[in-house]
Amino acid sequence: MRRRILAFILAITAIFLIHIQTANAIVIREGSRGAEVTRLQQRLIELGFLNTRATGVFGPLTKDAVLRFQRANGLTADGVVGRATTSAMFPTTTSRSPVPQTTTTVLREGSRGAEVTRLQQRLIELGFLNTRATGVFGPLTKDAVLRFQRANGLTSDGVVGHSTVTALFTPAQNNPVSNPITSVLRRGSRGAQVTTLQNRLIELGLLNVSANGNFGPLTQSAVEQFQRTNSLTVNGTVDSETARKLFAPPEPPPSIPSESPEPPPPVAQDPNPPIHTEPTPPVQPEPNSPLVRFNGVAGALTGRTVIIDPGHGGRDPGAVRNGVRESELVLDISFRLKRMLEEAGAVVLMTRETDVFRSLLFRSAFANRHVLQLETERLRSLIAGMPSQQAQTGATTQSPVQNEQVMQTLIGLQVERAQLQQRQSDISSQIAIIQEILVLLTILDEDRAQLKKANEASDSAAIALEKSEIFQRELQLNDLAARIGLPGSTHDIANSNLLLRQQETEQITVRLSELNQQIAAAQRLLEQPAQTENPIPVPPQPEVPPTGNSSISEAINMWNSKIAMFDHYINNPLLESREGIFALARDSSNNVQANEMLSKVFDLTRERYQDNIVFISVHINSTTQNATESSGIRMFYRHNGPTFAWGVGNPHYYLNYNSTARRSLSQNLLNSLNAFTTFQGEVTSPTRMDFSVLRETNLVSSLIEVGFINNAGDRALIVQEQIREDSAAGIYTGLVNYFNSLR
Ligand SMILES: [Zn+2]
Repeated sequence: MRRRILAFILAITAIFLIHIQTANAIVIREGSRGAEVTRLQQRLIELGFLNTRATGVFGPLTKDAVLRFQRANGLTADGVVGRATTSAMFPTTTSRSPVPQTTTTVLREGSRGAEVTRLQQRLIELGFLNTRATGVFGPLTKDAVLRFQRANGLTSDGVVGHSTVTALFTPAQNNPVSNPITSVLRRGSRGAQVTTLQNRLIELGLLNVSANGNFGPLTQSAVEQFQRTNSLTVNGTVDSETARKLFAPPEPPPSIPSESPEPPPPVAQDPNPPIHTEPTPPVQPEPNSPLVRFNGVAGALTGRTVIIDPGHGGRDPGAVRNGVRESELVLDISFRLKRMLEEAGAVVLMTRETDVFRSLLFRSAFANRHVLQLETERLRSLIAGMPSQQAQTGATTQSPVQNEQVMQTLIGLQVERAQLQQRQSDISSQIAIIQEILVLLTILDEDRAQLKKANEASDSAAIALEKSEIFQRELQLNDLAARIGLPGSTHDIANSNLLLRQQETEQITVRLSELNQQIAAAQRLLEQPAQTENPIPVPPQPEVPPTGNSSISEAINMWNSKIAMFDHYINNPLLESREGIFALARDSSNNVQANEMLSKVFDLTRERYQDNIVFISVHINSTTQNATESSGIRMFYRHNGPTFAWGVGNPHYYLNYNSTARRSLSQNLLNSLNAFTTFQGEVTSPTRMDFSVLRETNLVSSLIEVGFINNAGDRALIVQEQIREDSAAGIYTGLVNYFNSLR
């Protein structure tokens, strides 16, 4: 009896626990978006299940890849990524721990240090790696690991975990002339060993096509050429002698182990770095890998504005170590980001576009002035669009009948605007699908080329394989085309439909901007009687009551006077003292605060311009020491209240920052940058900080620090063009996710 009760209790507890776990587990499915999806896609790409790039959007292609993964792993194939699929997919990281796993050393792309050096030396010994050991796990090392894994029947994921380490260092592999080809390969052979052979021939410059696992005529002639130049019997067959020669180390392994790839010891503190005459070109540790460019999705950011603030510049290089300068790298990242954002239809402004010094107040003045320019434009268009009758009569109060008419008009305009916004959002998803179709079509072309080759070689197995690939691809294409009602899925149809949708998006954008003006005008009319707050002192008891037109003109004059005050900073980019609009004021308790003029700009910003404009400042971190263990992305935002994570903050400066939006932007950026980069360290929450550029504008804003320049590992990464491209892609995706979350 007792045991039965106990069993009962255990069962209940188990059910309870399962419920808790399922509730906490993140389930990702078709339609999901965000950093989790990006991470999933990157993993699927790593594992060879997904053929496109990570987009952060869980579309039909991603679902297909998940289904294939589930089938291959004996899971319920439902295309939904729940707990079981997640743990099968990420076996080494059971949860998304912010701390990198240190107990079991898993080496992967981005890893560095003595263990990587050892791995590389071993790969060189075994003939899988052709370069010298650098201690940095880059794409060449990854390729070598992939080849090793394929040759040894391991899951080929390019990640060196327990089983790969075991296989690498087993006695069988200790023979330096042992090689991954264990059987005789000849024309007609197929499989992983042929792929390994082909990759080796490609490495040696003997084969010019990509490896496909089929030993055809091209592979044969490459083998013959190798045999000729190595005084072997020329028969085009890879027997043990040819195999041994093929995979023998090219030169005797270096007797002195190669040290860390870092240039000599760090320089001293650099509060006043010397004037740099010649920019040091960033070092590219593995220059062989071509850049993988990330592109913005057309229409994804239509109507949005991003102000990019590349940190430092000119006489202020920011953090500097070993000739690597923060100011240069952040400008490079910023230009990449600008390109992606513009591809997505955003308006991009930069606080600097060259290596020049700009004061912190210049940067904030730049952002504030943009807001005021938008506002004065809006007010001018109100005057222009206002019915002249209205302007003439200039009634200060509207009759109830007039009010009713304006209200009806307003509702009609708002309905039209909502419909157009919906249509705009639909079109943007359709555009995403068309872009997937275009990618698939390119892959299909490659498949067809392979089929042609197989036909020429009369390789019946390869023909069957390619035919089935092509069949699958065509099914996917038809499915995608059907989803958005395309009459077919050719390049021409996809391209012409893409163009049509882009044109429609543009027309909608124009119409929306008209509607916004008309709606604002109507609202203004309805509000007019209640209008009391005019910051410019109105002469008491004017003989003629101000017309709508003239009160707008007064507002324009007021904002123009503030624009002039910001211009003072923009015309004097070295000016760092607080004067004019940035002069400090005190509240009744003598706390420092923003003065009334600046507060008005902040109020306006929040009221009218916060949804579609963000400000992001791009930096690379550094501590005051010569070297640091700190690593990875850091994200900062200012909010209302005590704002320093450490030290004293000033909570009284201004009280109407949009803390929620600022935090959300920062979290989105952090998630996605973490997903797109491979720094050793990872932090998962943004930090509150009272940085000047975050405090002196009321646009939703974040300050981004991409890695630590005085951490050798981070530095070795950030000097690579690919890492900077990926960082920009991370920021881009974070911005898209943030703006999508506002819909
Ligand atoms: Zn900085």
